[in-house]
Amino acid sequence: MAVRIGKILITEDDIKRRVAELGEEISRDYADTTPVLVSVLKGGIIFLADLVRELKILHEIDFMSVSSYNGGTESSGVVRILQDLSINIEGEDVIIVEDIVDSGLTLDYIRSILLARHPKTLRICTLLDKKPKREIEVPIDYIGFEIPDEFVIGYGLDYEQKYRNLPYIAIGVVDD
Ligand code: 5GP
Repeated sequence: MAVRIGKILITEDDIKRRVAELGEEISRDYADTTPVLVSVLKGGIIFLADLVRELKILHEIDFMSVSSYNGGTESSGVVRILQDLSINIEGEDVIIVEDIVDSGLTLDYIRSILLARHPKTLRICTLLDKKPKREIEVPIDYIGFEIPDEFVIGYGLDYEQKYRNLPYIAIGVVDD
């Protein structure tokens, strides 16, 4: 099975514009504090890198890595911490920065782990929201784009670790 680049769903310009808007919104909402932006590796790093450059406020970044997909195109439902945060988030204003929310299983898991560490506040920002696939309701505070139930690649999102560098979001077409 291989994947090729299909139709472009979200262009580079659209992403740029929306990330700038999200940066403005977050800067307004967190004007009086120094939030910790937690990026979920690896898919979330491109979005995080662009988002923080649109922030007008002091902030910190940290990373965690979990496994949920087994390199394929469907969620395995199994979520495991591969790498934990380096910052103690107790009493901090935390924003989880995700590339995509699909079933919601990964985010629900990360959210419960982080809430157990007693941050002052915990919000969620995702570039893409694949609403039709949601299995668990998770509260999302900042959404870049809602997308249909398609397997997408680009702007951090991979197929077997490839295509993360595409500057746009495209449908990954599976050829058998
Ligand atoms: P969930 O647990 O919400 O089903 O899946 C979350 C994770 O699955 C995302 O962080 C991402 O790594 C991966 N994922 C979900 N949908 C897609 C998709 O359409 N394309 C890619 N490349 N990864 C996806």
